[in-house]
Amino acid sequence: MLIDLRSDTVTQPSAAMRAAMAAAPVGDDVFGDDPSINALQQRVAALAGKPAALIAASGTQTNLLALLSHCQRGEEYLVGQEYHTYRYEAGGAAVLGGIVPQPFEVEADGTLDLARVEKRIKPDDPHFPITRLLALENTHTGRVIPQAYMLQARKLVDKHGLKLHLDGARIFNAAVATGLSLQELCAPFDSISICFSKGLGTPIGSVLVGSKAFIGRAHRWRKMLGGGMRQAGIIAAAMDYALDHQVARLADDHTNAARLHQGLQGLSGLTLEPQHTNMVYINYANLGDALKVSDYLREHGVLVSRAQRQRLVTHLNISSTDIERVIELYTAASKLL
Ligand SMILES: *Cc1c(COP(=O)(O)O)cnc(C)c1O
Repeated sequence: MLIDLRSDTVTQPSAAMRAAMAAAPVGDDVFGDDPSINALQQRVAALAGKPAALIAASGTQTNLLALLSHCQRGEEYLVGQEYHTYRYEAGGAAVLGGIVPQPFEVEADGTLDLARVEKRIKPDDPHFPITRLLALENTHTGRVIPQAYMLQARKLVDKHGLKLHLDGARIFNAAVATGLSLQELCAPFDSISICFSKGLGTPIGSVLVGSKAFIGRAHRWRKMLGGGMRQAGIIAAAMDYALDHQVARLADDHTNAARLHQGLQGLSGLTLEPQHTNMVYINYANLGDALKVSDYLREHGVLVSRAQRQRLVTHLNISSTDIERVIELYTAASKLL
């Protein structure tokens, strides 16, 4: 078996998860008839402390549904340059919603400078787009964003009558790392997008949570985007299984990432960034060095990214034994630099 550290999206559904999927009662979810979908949506809404939830195929889709449901054409959302909603979702909000992004540089701690954000909130003037929404992310590149910051962001949006969205693709990693409940982490936000196909290990599935009216609008957009699914309860069953069995174990991923980070300390040619939750970032002097290491690892059965800033991600198919093997291989590879 390859040791694949490229992402926490590479996990394989276990036999037990597949059994839960096979056994799921299903119906036509476009008719609202799928009992497994309905139960999962209710479960996630309750966990997040919000009135309603909607399942979708991916986190890109739940983020897009959120942006489309908060903002009209000609309205603006405030976002980080490096946040997924702005950078990695093909500009969907602009392409499909006519929504204007106002990006900001992300600070070293993963936050946006709220004083700068406030300066860019547009006054009511026909020259400007209408500022509607601030979109944040937690975790960002593995970093947990402090809850005190999120509460400050809430104060800012309240002061200006804006909405607040969270790309919480890895919000469960933040919950496990901080000991805060999902409800506490979600409390400052009007809407949250949560991925189940990352550390939680399902093959597919994300959930958007928010008010009933907001989720009603998102439901219409999902239909328009071709995201209505039929007997999708098989997906909900995998997500339900993940909630039961694969949340608390995220702590193992964090422990493995910390051990990996420690084991790579001091190797020549590798510059480590501080480790957070399930991610370790290594910087190389040049792309050639990164490729040398990546090629060496691949020859020895380990897959890592081929970028000069190399991200290693731990997940449920990576054991502590795998981590020791990876540290040995990096130690050998660093001697080639
Ligand atoms: C993975 C990810 C998403 C959603 O990605 P999909 O692949 O569309 O599910 C959104 N935000 C962040 C921060 C992510 O890492």
